[in-house]
Amino acid sequence: MSTSRQIHLVRRPKGTPEPADFAVVEVETPDAGEGEVQVAGVLMSVDPYMRPRLDADQALGEPLLGGGIGRIVQSRNPKFVEGDLVRHGAGFRERFVSDGRGLAVLRPDPDLPLTVHLHALGGTGLTAYGGLLQVGALADGEQVFVSTAGGAVGSTAAQIAKLKGCYVVGSTGSDEKARWLRDDVRLDAVINYKQEPIGEALARATPKGIDVYFENVGGAHLDAALPRMNVRGRIPVCGMISVYNGGGEPVRGLFNLIYRRVRMEGFVASDFTHLNAAFQSDMTGWLKSGQVKYQETVLDGFERAPEGLIGLFEGRNTGKMLIRLTDDGGDAL
Ligand code: NAP
Repeated sequence: MSTSRQIHLVRRPKGTPEPADFAVVEVETPDAGEGEVQVAGVLMSVDPYMRPRLDADQALGEPLLGGGIGRIVQSRNPKFVEGDLVRHGAGFRERFVSDGRGLAVLRPDPDLPLTVHLHALGGTGLTAYGGLLQVGALADGEQVFVSTAGGAVGSTAAQIAKLKGCYVVGSTGSDEKARWLRDDVRLDAVINYKQEPIGEALARATPKGIDVYFENVGGAHLDAALPRMNVRGRIPVCGMISVYNGGGEPVRGLFNLIYRRVRMEGFVASDFTHLNAAFQSDMTGWLKSGQVKYQETVLDGFERAPEGLIGLFEGRNTGKMLIRLTDDGGDAL
């Protein structure tokens, strides 16, 4: 028996979450029993989808739902060896005991940082890949718009579209992210939506219209994209972060879907498990060749998870938001 910490929701947020909505709680963590393992967290993924859950689905006084990478520190289960790294969806817990269900042994690529397995080579990357290629049915050379193009999913989607020979416009909310997208990722046009009205800027940046709008924001971004859509365009709806805290701008232009025969379709990452082998192969190659670049914001310290989640809604992350629990990547656990 030892003690470890968990992040609990203690109050349902009104609007943007506040630190006082969360608490770091110390709990007793039992040793692994027969058939069980004890896992020590190494990295946790902080994701926008967590916010809508805080309104109802996330229980108060329970660890926040979330995923990450941990290391097996005790094993009484023959499927796991002490020292193995595992992917888990066990929530924001420093240590936990599991019967092994929901754990997947991770053999990280020795030539890539461990962190990429939680973004470009993980669910984030698969979301971009499946959303763009399957739901968006992207064809080579098309006209593409990606919102939150400086973020984890958006930057990956934008670069996959560039690899397919497309003309790609990205939107973001900071000059620094815009510079990275323009100079390093080499998008064809970049809009800082905090500096200029998104509708006017998008009209200027898309002289040939939009065939695929990879939707991450909703509200004014969606309203700006709708009148720019080409006939038979597609809007794969990955997320709508501008409305997750409640409110958000109204969308008036949905009628554009009709005569332009635009298809708008939502999806979740788990829809694409059948693409995972092709995705892993493609993305590993793109990362190693530098054809897909990434950025990440890694906060050190388990207790900083609420700060990380709140920061997503203030654009404080550059690329994937992660929490690092150990300063050695878990090697010494
Ligand atoms: P991210 O883009 O790395 O981080 C969130 C970013 O959203 C912030 O950095 C900020 O960037 C932007 N943002 C925040 N509030 C905004 C607002 N009101 N208007 C416009 N932009 C705003 O996060 P991510 O994990 O890659 O997620 C991006 C989107 O994909 C989210 O909508 C998320 O829900 C969705 N998603 C969906 C799935 C799925 O399975 N369907 C899976 C993963 C993610 P700026 O500085 O550019 O404003």
